[in-house]
Amino acid sequence: MSAPEKLPVVVLKPRRALPFFSQHPWVFAGAIGSVSGRPDVGTEVIVRSHEGKFIARGLFNPHSNIRVRLYRWEEQDGLDEEFWRARVRSAVQLRQKLFAGTPTEKACRLIFSEADGLSGLTVDRVNDWLVVQWTSAALHRFQQPILDELQALLAPKGIWLRTEKGIKIQEGLEIEDGLLSGDVPPSSLVIEENGLQLAVDLQAGQKTGFYYDQRENRRVMADYVQGGRVLDMFCYSGAFALSAAKLGQARDVVAVDSSNSALELARRNAELNGIADRITFHCDDAFEFLDAQVEAGEKYDVIILDPPKLARSRSGLERAAKAYVRLNQLAMKALNPDGILMTCSCSGHVQREDFQQIIARASLECGRRVQILEERGQAPDHPVSVNCLETSYLKCILCRVE
Ligand code: SAH
Repeated sequence: MSAPEKLPVVVLKPRRALPFFSQHPWVFAGAIGSVSGRPDVGTEVIVRSHEGKFIARGLFNPHSNIRVRLYRWEEQDGLDEEFWRARVRSAVQLRQKLFAGTPTEKACRLIFSEADGLSGLTVDRVNDWLVVQWTSAALHRFQQPILDELQALLAPKGIWLRTEKGIKIQEGLEIEDGLLSGDVPPSSLVIEENGLQLAVDLQAGQKTGFYYDQRENRRVMADYVQGGRVLDMFCYSGAFALSAAKLGQARDVVAVDSSNSALELARRNAELNGIADRITFHCDDAFEFLDAQVEAGEKYDVIILDPPKLARSRSGLERAAKAYVRLNQLAMKALNPDGILMTCSCSGHVQREDFQQIIARASLECGRRVQILEERGQAPDHPVSVNCLETSYLKCILCRVE
């Protein structure tokens, strides 16, 4: 730890300090007035208001638009190894409190970036393996103490690194998927979720392998499907479809995704749970598939819409909103009277109220009255930081469509 007076100082422009006094962790380049010294990637810096008032300690990255990520708001305490280790312990303790003694303990998100005070790091547990993903080149410099603490707490068989394509451009971070410690994970690990057995491919699966954030929503959805005909759009490895068929005792389930490898995994999962005879899989574009279903007069009792992020940036919001309206409108048309729509958006840029408006527009355009029954979010191993509401990204709305 360095004494505060020795560290480079980042001084904000006038009237730009408010979010950081409220402990928001992202200081964008545009908010910065001056920088003393020559901080490099991962250098600890002190952030001050333009009047010189201490705000926080953070890590600098000259290549990133998020120029400083803030981690600590006490002037006297620095970002030393023990600090990072303590943050890891706190995150792991939360999951132990939530899931100890249940299968979820071994199949959950252990560290969720800003929500766990570790902006730029995500860690998932998949049985005895951990998957790590960095979205900050600066925090990546502290990989060793962080991995050491994870090893000490959980003794995983191996730790695997996954990377996202954009990270080199956004952060200047040049890393590749691969083994960080221990043994290479097998290509298929079977986790348990809500009593289902689900194969996860850490190395080749999407993102970090599995979407844990929908765990509770899958369980809730199962309460609505008994004896019905269910459509799972954007099914990936089939977790919603399987929940409907097995937990919910749906009569028959149709599952759609545009990725063949996703469907392969989903088919394997259906077999693993002995319900392959009740699920039909289709490789198709969601919009085209729904269009054709409406055209053919096919009807469902329950439809799940869990698309990928349709809004990747604020500038793409307008276009994304149109796509969401169209998707929801098509789904409403394909529902039987009094059908159930579980509609989701994982775009952080789409606010909850915006998403309700999208559903309202879809309802008006297809002339079906819609009532919201449940408003849900992400599972608790993806907590929301009250200081960084961007961490509240998943909207999952359950409606009745008259
Ligand atoms: N419902 C899944 C997660 C969905 S992630 C679960 O519970 O695990 C989004 C999925 O949408 C991905 O599997 C991706 O392959 C698929 N996808 C993306 N664009 C698509 C499109 N236009 N049509 C159909 N599927 C699409």
